[in-house]
Amino acid sequence: MALHPITQAVRIQTERTNEMEHSTPLFLTSSFCYDDAEEMRATFADENDFNIYSRFSNPNVSEFTNKVVALEGAEAGYATASGMSAVFATFMALMKQGDHLISCNAIFGSTHGVVTKYLPKYGIEYTYVPVEATAEEWEAAVKPNTKMIFIETPTNPGLDIIDLEMVGQVAKRHNLIYNVDNCFATPIGQRPIEFGADLVVHSATKWIDGQGRALGGVVVGRPDLIKEIYLFCRSTGPSMSPFNAWVLSKSLETLDVRMERHSSNALHIAESLEGHPAITSLKYPTLPSHPQYEIAKKQMLQGGGIVCFELKGGLESGRKFLDALELLTLTANLGDSRSIASHPASTTHAKLTEVERLTVGITPGLIRISVGLEYKDDILNDIVQALEKC
Ligand SMILES: *Cc1c(COP(=O)(O)O)cnc(C)c1O
Repeated sequence: MALHPITQAVRIQTERTNEMEHSTPLFLTSSFCYDDAEEMRATFADENDFNIYSRFSNPNVSEFTNKVVALEGAEAGYATASGMSAVFATFMALMKQGDHLISCNAIFGSTHGVVTKYLPKYGIEYTYVPVEATAEEWEAAVKPNTKMIFIETPTNPGLDIIDLEMVGQVAKRHNLIYNVDNCFATPIGQRPIEFGADLVVHSATKWIDGQGRALGGVVVGRPDLIKEIYLFCRSTGPSMSPFNAWVLSKSLETLDVRMERHSSNALHIAESLEGHPAITSLKYPTLPSHPQYEIAKKQMLQGGGIVCFELKGGLESGRKFLDALELLTLTANLGDSRSIASHPASTTHAKLTEVERLTVGITPGLIRISVGLEYKDDILNDIVQALEKC
């Protein structure tokens, strides 16, 4: 019976043991046993898919990975200890000295750090194109040594949207690896492989966990590329812990229902706040006022749980807004059942200069709300009362 990916996210499970458990047990074991020398030899010779050692594979981790593979419509995957180790593994396993990467200035802060500080140390150069770049501008960035295009859409924290299909066509024309960070939309909201992505990476720490409990990362996509990533990771060791995989696999059972509610709550908040006198602009992917609304409509199935707005009073208002909140939490995470507010200019991006912040889309009064699963008007009312004080 062919099952829908949402059913697979609920039903994919490790093979039932003799205990006849219903829920997957925790396989907290570093290594796995063999009946005899021949079985052990065959396993090490890759003649079967038995487990060897949990740095290579583990039943809980495989269950989690297989669910993400199903949700993204991919063919293979590998799970890692965090989103950043997944991103880093795609770079290190698939590029070498002398290669060139094209990306966007609007990427997650730590990814920006890897691209600009660490890749050059290994002789891998990069070019950033603006989020609003046309197909011609993407084309113009391609060099003879370009190996990969890496993008994130919607972007964090600016919530800009890049045309997945357009960039995918550029990648295809030049035979480049097309690597997409799909953390913000999740596979419930957007499936980049349908638009030509070769690889999709996730920070499972965010919406996939959805409750702020565990770090995790995963990369899914073309089997030949995943094989290289697997070989890199099994040697270098950024494996996902079986415990985190167990938690995250349980989370995937509810991802669809959670994302539906995160999105409908976020849309309600975005629609209600649009035009508020303390705000100069507001962004949400499925609001017609979003600058890339037409692209969002083409590639996204729902808007996701992040709403961004710009406070009229700039930097000082941002601090006052955070101080005035009573329900929303001030914390560095996003994608939680509990709503979170952040002000990048005074926190995560405070070390950058104003000019550097602006080039990555962070204006002084930018507020990012990760909309949780509380009752929608309780979230809205807290934001509205805080806006009145800033
Ligand atoms: C958080 C995040 C990451 C990094 O993930 P970790 O699990 O924190 O390592 C990468 N990309 C995006 C878009 C993120 O929001």
